[in-house]
Amino acid sequence: MADDFDAIVVGAGMAGSSAAIRLAQGGANVLLLERGAEAGAKNLSGGLLWGHDLDRILPAWSREMPLERHLVRKRFGVLTPERSVSFDFDDVGWRTPPYVAHSVLRARTDAWLAKQAEAAGATVVPAVPVDRLAWEGTTARGVVQGGETMRAPITIVADGANSRVALGTPIRPQPRLSEEATELGVKEVYRLDASRIEERFQLGPGEGHAEEWVLGLYPPGVMAGGFLYTNRDTISLGVIANVRSLFGGAIPAHDLVERFKQHPTIRAALAGAELVEYGAKLISSGWASRPAAFHGDGWLVAGDAAGFVFSNGLVIQGMNYAIRTGLEAAETALAARAAHDASAARLAEYEARLERSGILADFRDFARIDRVKWNPRFYTAYPRFATSLFRSLLDPGDGPKRPLRRLLREAQRASGVRSRTLLADGLEALRDL
Ligand SMILES: Cc1cc2nc3c(=O)[nH]c(=O)nc-3n(C[C@H](O)[C@H](O)[C@H](O)COP(=O)(O)OP(=O)(O)OC[C@H]3O[C@@H](n4cnc5c(N)ncnc54)[C@H](O)[C@@H]3O)c2cc1C
Repeated sequence: MADDFDAIVVGAGMAGSSAAIRLAQGGANVLLLERGAEAGAKNLSGGLLWGHDLDRILPAWSREMPLERHLVRKRFGVLTPERSVSFDFDDVGWRTPPYVAHSVLRARTDAWLAKQAEAAGATVVPAVPVDRLAWEGTTARGVVQGGETMRAPITIVADGANSRVALGTPIRPQPRLSEEATELGVKEVYRLDASRIEERFQLGPGEGHAEEWVLGLYPPGVMAGGFLYTNRDTISLGVIANVRSLFGGAIPAHDLVERFKQHPTIRAALAGAELVEYGAKLISSGWASRPAAFHGDGWLVAGDAAGFVFSNGLVIQGMNYAIRTGLEAAETALAARAAHDASAARLAEYEARLERSGILADFRDFARIDRVKWNPRFYTAYPRFATSLFRSLLDPGDGPKRPLRRLLREAQRASGVRSRTLLADGLEALRDL
């Protein structure tokens, strides 16, 4: 049977739209399918878009894409119920283009990217939830939706984390994601005038501020981090939690954000802001969440569907990897089209490209990151340690002054962690982060 397209891309997120744009620019007849009513309608990120990966396909993207603010400052800190300790990173280089990162709202950016795919010549069809790939043995021959098969020699799977198209197939033979490598992201968006955002966060026009917090706010065992990013006239705020640590119901998912935003430090940042949007999404991050293979006969997998989210507690980067892997998948598909060969052997070029570009190394070299990131002591004992230390350093009380070594010992006692454990955790963090 004749093919309907040269390539089909499943999912119009950052990975899928980038792939479709490059394929269309390379002269391929490409179909981009999106389950949402429009691209971006179902997408959710923190979200800071790092880097300049779109330069490769859209040289004017930083001027034309609906971006929110360019990042000029990042705050890191820990929260306990009564206290917070944080520090800011500022870099004058971040205040001039090309900017290091932009805050984005996916409903806007993804709709714009899908439009660029259409402008490049791709056929973009929203409101089509692909049911599965059309398999002929172990070869993918397109997609099936509502009983109808759309055929193509190459399909790029870019349908995000918890990919319905990949689970239970040669891409991910297991029926569900591993709990270990899965995180739950819960996010809210608050409206606040641009001028009040700029005054509150000491920003110039168009400048943005971002915060990442280690949350020592929850019952023991619950491990989560919080984020707050400024947009043009909104603030994005949310919590990313280790899914396994939520089992047993120590805290209901909706309380994760509630406790974060009720903390006095965060509440002040949101004063007068009005909730306009909320959502939740799974994240499968890191080497442990990679699929069984990145390519096979007739298929390639990119972005979150392939687990390309790097997150170490200080930064979360998934959109840039989605774009980069989408582009490498598209280049591979274009070369396969030229060679009239979509076999696994031919599509192995994708993995070689991921290797050459350093993408695989970014994940493989940090394969043990989760052991540090999801060490329960970072969410209980160490926030207590840091906040007790700073409290006694800054508020020594009326009694005699104590030297730093004593304050450190007292903070350690307050945290309940033995010196040996502290040292071991420190060494592990140095090795694996
Ligand atoms: C709370 C949270 C905060 C984050 N913060 C950041 C951040 O600050 N910076 C950063 O870089 N990354 C961040 N990420 C990660 C980032 O969002 C992802 O890495 C990125 O969105 C991956 O892009 P993608 O195109 O691979 O997948 P997605 O953006 O998930 O896009 C997949 C697309 O496929 C569509 N789809 C799904 N199933 C089907 C189907 N069956 N048929 C057709 N279409 C389908 C979806 O509707 C969607 O449009 C965050 C994630 C979360 C959840």
